[in-house]
Amino acid sequence: MPTRLKIAIQKSGRLYEDSLKLLKDCGIDLKNGINKLKTEAENFPMEVFFLRDDDIPQYVEDAVADIGIVGENVILEKNKKVTVCEKLGFGKCRLSVAVGRNEPYDDCRFLHHKKIATTYPVLVEKFLKENKIEAEIHEISGSVEIAPGIGLADAIVDLVSSGSTLFMNGLKEVETILHSEAVLIRHPKLGQEQQEILEKLLFRLRSVRKAKHTKYILLNAPNERLKEITALLPGMKSPTVLPLAEAGWSSVHSVVNEDQFWEIIEKLKAAGAQGILVVPIEKMIL
Ligand code: ATP
Ligand code: MG
Repeated sequence: MPTRLKIAIQKSGRLYEDSLKLLKDCGIDLKNGINKLKTEAENFPMEVFFLRDDDIPQYVEDAVADIGIVGENVILEKNKKVTVCEKLGFGKCRLSVAVGRNEPYDDCRFLHHKKIATTYPVLVEKFLKENKIEAEIHEISGSVEIAPGIGLADAIVDLVSSGSTLFMNGLKEVETILHSEAVLIRHPKLGQEQQEILEKLLFRLRSVRKAKHTKYILLNAPNERLKEITALLPGMKSPTVLPLAEAGWSSVHSVVNEDQFWEIIEKLKAAGAQGILVVPIEKMIL
């Protein structure tokens, strides 16, 4: 049987949809079987295991899976021998300390000799140590946000994205311990063939991710301002410039980064560019 790269992704939960979408955007179609635990790709040498996110680092350390998609928070908590090879840009959240809305929290010394409920005991322990605070950690496996309300803890450390769960439970976020997003992890030593498949996957993944942050831009420029306008648009090599049917005008095509996008548009307009069109890019091969 030909070698396949085995990837572990979350079975259900917050990373499930985005992990599947990432594979799809990389042109990888999965077989729709009845087996909910594993499947394979139709058009790429890949096998997919569906697991609880907590178990993914262990499976990758043990080489049961070659690679996996999991939150950085889980990687740091579990301390397994795996290598992070790429940030994936989804599953963004933070690990934060929260206390009752009316608690007088000024800084983390508030936590001294208090009870803290969390599913992240290792990360909380580290945070307390760094800040020279002694506190009691209560490890619980879920619904951490109700712990203060039922008298189980004075504070919690939990994952937050919008903060609405904390708010609904009468809590306020007072300190951020860690920022996290989904990452692709790999076993530190892959076989030659697995390594080659991983490189193919990473190449596709980077092309997709790069394209997401980049736009294709087309505009009309009066020839006498062309130099100024093209200087604003570096492009992949340099902008494409084509003459328009109307004398004295050119069409300029280029790519721009999303983070500089509005700034560049304003400068282009000020430099006399007209009819500016902005188009999404599906993939970007560098
Ligand atoms: P599983 O059944 O796989 O163990 P889970 O309940 O532990 O699932 P989810 O709540 O689905 O996990 O979260 C999975 C990951 O999504 C987290 O480890 C984290 O990296 C990320 N995440 C993003 N935003 C949030 C959030 N607001 N709350 C919790 N996790 C978040
Ligand atoms: Mg979990």
